[in-house]
Amino acid sequence: MKCKICEEYFNTNNSFSFLFYFPEKCPSCKLKYKAEINKEFIPIDGGEICYIYLYDLPLNLVQRNYLERNLKIIYKQLKKDFEKYELFLMIDYFLIKEMADYWPLISPFKRICFFSLQYLDIMNWKFLE
Ligand SMILES: [Zn+2]
Repeated sequence: MKCKICEEYFNTNNSFSFLFYFPEKCPSCKLKYKAEINKEFIPIDGGEICYIYLYDLPLNLVQRNYLERNLKIIYKQLKKDFEKYELFLMIDYFLIKEMADYWPLISPFKRICFFSLQYLDIMNWKFLE
């Protein structure tokens, strides 16, 4: 079978269970790309940004497209934290580049939650300075 993440072929144990179940990930990707919630807190003027992400690994487009289904883990967490934050925003590399333009709209909020699939180094965002 072909792994949907690394696109390498891998073998599975042949048994009757595989008549009804086709693994999409090879054993090493299953371990390497296990989705885990990571949080980072960044103090801002009079409040804080909680930044949630799943992967701190370089991901190509194929990997991102496949792994985006794991964002549901974050959505479940956001549902629990619904009362804690005033603003939830999904961010990506392209949004960050434009963030300085959006920041005047976002900065009035004091309890902000950003989330993304892949880690983005938000400590180096210029708009926070
Ligand atoms: Zn793989």
